Amino acid sequence: MGELKNVVEVKVPIAASFSWSVGKYMDRYIKELKNKKLFGVKCPNCGCVYLPPRMICGRCFTKIEEWVEVSDEGTVESFTVAQVKLDRGEGGLKELEEPEIIGLIKHDGTDSCLVHRLGEVKPEDVKIGMKVQAVWTDEPNGELGDLKYYKPI
Ligand SMILES: [Zn+2]
Repeated sequence: MGELKNVVEVKVPIAASFSWSVGKYMDRYIKELKNKKLFGVKCPNCGCVYLPPRMICGRCFTKIEEWVEVSDEGTVESFTVAQVKLDRGEGGLKELEEPEIIGLIKHDGTDSCLVHRLGEVKPEDVKIGMKVQAVWTDEPNGELGDLKYYKPI
């Protein structure tokens, strides 16, 4: 039996860069962001509208193929205030200089929620049920970052 205090420990930082396919539905969703448009899908069976889009209805398991343009306005259904960087990165959790507000946003006319940042509002002023609107970058490129955050309206 060896003694644990004699075990040599080596720390090896690993940098792993990778890419993956977002799939057919998210591909279209992201491409439409370039036009500052939000496209979701509507279930042909139960009528549920999903944003972001999904291929199979979560309520009735029907395949969804109808695309619908969705309003850029919605309601905060829930939120959290992050005090640490969400991406741990090297060196573990790091405290943020300014807290970040992450909201669960239900767009008008949809039956699902999208997770995104809230901006132009202080954490103490965010309320569940608050109306918000998408804020876009000035020159969208067809990537997730085109939708910067949601602001109160
Ligand atoms: Zn359905």
